[in-house]
Amino acid sequence: LIVDLHTHTDQSDGTMSPSELVDHALELGLAGLAITDHDNLDAYKIAKAHLETLDRPHFDLLCGIELSTKAEFSGRQRSVHLLGYWPTGKPSVSFLNWLAELRTDREDRNHRLAERLRALGFDVQVEEARSIGRYMTGRPHFAIVMRNKGYVASIEEAFKKYLGEEGAAYVDRHEPTLAESIGRVRESGGVASIAHPARLPIGNDFVAIERFLEKQVDVGLDALEVQHSDHSAEFAYAMSQLAERFRLLPTGGSDFHGENKPSVKLGRGRGNVHVPEKYLAGLRSKTAR
Ligand SMILES: [Zn+2]
Ligand SMILES: [Zn+2]
Repeated sequence: LIVDLHTHTDQSDGTMSPSELVDHALELGLAGLAITDHDNLDAYKIAKAHLETLDRPHFDLLCGIELSTKAEFSGRQRSVHLLGYWPTGKPSVSFLNWLAELRTDREDRNHRLAERLRALGFDVQVEEARSIGRYMTGRPHFAIVMRNKGYVASIEEAFKKYLGEEGAAYVDRHEPTLAESIGRVRESGGVASIAHPARLPIGNDFVAIERFLEKQVDVGLDALEVQHSDHSAEFAYAMSQLAERFRLLPTGGSDFHGENKPSVKLGRGRGNVHVPEKYLAGLRSKTAR
């Protein structure tokens, strides 16, 4: 039996509702599912309530999240996604408060950004960007609004002239570091796993990945996403070797987004994902520490 430990719903940038996603997983015969929406946990409660109305006591639904963090690579801050899993249910209240703070920060930044754009003479409202970006509303969504209104010819131009670090409307935002995020997940009773290591800004350099993982293990990393839609068989094998070497729990999933990424199927990814039930069992057993 297989499971899928990396999925998105319409509570972040997927297209299925949490209940539809549970139904879809059951249809496909999956043994379990973790919903890992970006920076919020809202889908879990909805999915859990829906599952309780069905007579499927053996289907294993795990509470999860995908956090946007930053880490330093060759002197530059780059984005790294971190998966968090809570095998005993929901994270602690202090973690929920931290998430709420991050959301407030993001909203503040968006309001300051819109103000700067208006000061430059563009009629751009936060609500317009939010109708595109929802929970994850940020600069790319402002860029789309600017292009749709004819203020710029392309997304690239919007970034180059206004939204990028050198742009006239640029506003910095506080993004948590990877190390802080690993700590927050662990303190709240969760398991922290590096998402899709193939997308780290060190590419296929296994020696660099090894060095990177060594640093994260020192600050408490528990797990590594071995299987993912973007991983070749060779890459996944190398990750399983590294997971073993650092005693990290292997995790894996499709990174399903519904119609927003139609080539990626739930449970199967691009045909390259096949996450055994024991990965989920491993996460469940980790809570006994
Ligand atoms: Zn990601
Ligand atoms: Zn994802």
